[in-house]
Amino acid sequence: MGLVIDLGAIQANWKALSALAPTARAGAVVKADAYGLGAEKVAPALYEAGARDFFVALASEGRCIRPLLPEDATIFVLSGAMEGEDLTGLVPLLNSPAQFFRYRTLSPRAPFGIQLDSGMNRLGIEPGEWNAIRAEALAAGPLLVMSHLACADEPQHPANAQQLAAFRAMTDGIGVSRSLAATGGILLGPDYHFDLVRPGVGQYGGAPFADGKPVVTLSLPVIQTREVKPGESVGYSFTWTAKRPSRVATVAAGYADGLARALMGKADLQLWAGDVPCPVIGRISMDLITVDVTDLPMVPAELEVLNARQGVDALAEHGGTIGYEILTSLGHRYTRTYL
Ligand SMILES: *Cc1c(COP(=O)(O)O)cnc(C)c1O
Repeated sequence: MGLVIDLGAIQANWKALSALAPTARAGAVVKADAYGLGAEKVAPALYEAGARDFFVALASEGRCIRPLLPEDATIFVLSGAMEGEDLTGLVPLLNSPAQFFRYRTLSPRAPFGIQLDSGMNRLGIEPGEWNAIRAEALAAGPLLVMSHLACADEPQHPANAQQLAAFRAMTDGIGVSRSLAATGGILLGPDYHFDLVRPGVGQYGGAPFADGKPVVTLSLPVIQTREVKPGESVGYSFTWTAKRPSRVATVAAGYADGLARALMGKADLQLWAGDVPCPVIGRISMDLITVDVTDLPMVPAELEVLNARQGVDALAEHGGTIGYEILTSLGHRYTRTYL
């Protein structure tokens, strides 16, 4: 019932990703509330599985999980040290020379890491800047020097090798822990693993980690069922009209719960009654979705939108998006159960 999150599957996926990079430590990316699944439950479960290096996007996210993790867990903040931010107990990944100097002046004894730009041009210290501050930055003792790949989900993309070469040119021989690979980078092989890998979406059963166990089941309660005569229409703007005597179930979730209207952009979005797919019909409303259940012998109490047959990536395809976005959009009105 509702959103069921399998913490055991998350742990198994983390261990499987960790085993793919046997020469590196595996960290765990739990930003955006552990990709929408609940960092307060997921981070301790990943600690239990063996993770000791956690990554969040924002200091506020780090502060939420800091009390839940033992002292020997390090929490890295990917956005670095933004002005006025309380970073007690957290380790910012400083991403510009200005940020480095400001943070070091403000908190000379606080631990920090360095984020380099190896070509993605999103966040991080650029090669020329790094040349200028490298000696001083390394003398200050960073815990980690990392960078991020732009195209790791496309193994053949030439940017992967280019970014690898750029990262090596900036970091070979520095004698500090290095990290380049997220889920996609782990799958690119050992050249990309360095000392620490940073799996995110693969832990949660998403592509590009094809061998992951499914983590999320989402079932929606059927509120009402009705008979619709041929020629009658259903939902906003009457986009669906019955061609035969039909039975329509209305379930309690909609775009306010992360099931975007755009999921109806392409035909044949299904909800599932066990093994049986049932087409979603009409518009997705804020709180309601209508489903054609005419072919079911009996209408169940709930219909599934995410299950082993329709995972986050399959659902994402309907709306022209990615599994990451489906996960991080999962709403807060579902009852959440953790296995
Ligand atoms: C989000 C993120 C990750 C995790 O990426 P996945 O593709 O989800 O594995 C790792 N490193 C950085 C810098 C990120 O922003």
